[in-house]
Amino acid sequence: MDKGIGIAGIAGRMGRLLAEEVVAAQARLVGGIDRPGLSVEGATLFPDIAALAAASDVVLDFTHASTAVAHAKALAAAGTAWVLGTTGLSAADEAAVAETAKRVAVVYAPNFSTGVNLMLALAERMAAALPAEQYDAEIVEMHHRQKVDAPSGTAIGLGRAVARGRGVVLEDVKESGRDGHTGARRTGAIGFAALRGGQVVGEHTLLFAAGTEHIALTHRAFDRRAFAAGAVRAALWVRGRSPGLYAMMDVLGMGTGG
Ligand code: NAD
Repeated sequence: MDKGIGIAGIAGRMGRLLAEEVVAAQARLVGGIDRPGLSVEGATLFPDIAALAAASDVVLDFTHASTAVAHAKALAAAGTAWVLGTTGLSAADEAAVAETAKRVAVVYAPNFSTGVNLMLALAERMAAALPAEQYDAEIVEMHHRQKVDAPSGTAIGLGRAVARGRGVVLEDVKESGRDGHTGARRTGAIGFAALRGGQVVGEHTLLFAAGTEHIALTHRAFDRRAFAAGAVRAALWVRGRSPGLYAMMDVLGMGTGG
């Protein structure tokens, strides 16, 4: 019954750590896929996602948003569970993920660290308690210079948590990439700023700024292993689950499911 865990993007920064964490968790590492010419010593490479999915109970996927639709189809066809950590997915990509979750169990999280998931829960509660007319919500993130998408998936996740707490839709109130004559800040807007540089693993601050006080939550990740360990925990949790779209909060027992 136990085929083991496969890794899409196994030669990447996350992929290599995931391979180590799978072994550390005493689970079976099936192997992985990556772009042609890349390899990881000691790991079996499969020709494509369909072959990897067929050989695995669960695929851990930390690749690039451009793979999302093809991977969604391959995992649904193989009936293999999917732990998806890739960020920068478009609405159409996310629709494909949701479609796959009707067929197989999917854990999709912009951030697999325990601390960030707690921050998401707190963000929603703070937003519900602090009136949007008085408390301006701003999200500032910083990542290493190689990161290709902005704002980060975690920053968007925080924005969604604030929007949920306020009973609004993020896309209706999002203010991102301010530059030039932007006009005054809109009441109720959720603002984003992205910094890129050096080798910062991931820093996120959610600030509520009112005329009389500021309150901020900050999370700093010092080591990508925080994400890799959480993702492997999700992979062990999701094996054998009913089809559905799960969040890391569900894995940690803090979620509402669904
Ligand atoms: P990376 O560039 O080091 O690794 C990505 C790997 O995927 C590379 O080895 C690349 O060759 C491979 N890849 C790309 N396209 C592919 C394809 N079509 N088929 C097979 N392999 C392909 O990047 P990274 O830092 O490891 O991050 C990967 C993704 O994970 C990014 O989207 C990043 O934002 C996300 N991420 C998520 C979390 C989280 O907790 N959810 C944490 C860290 C990174």
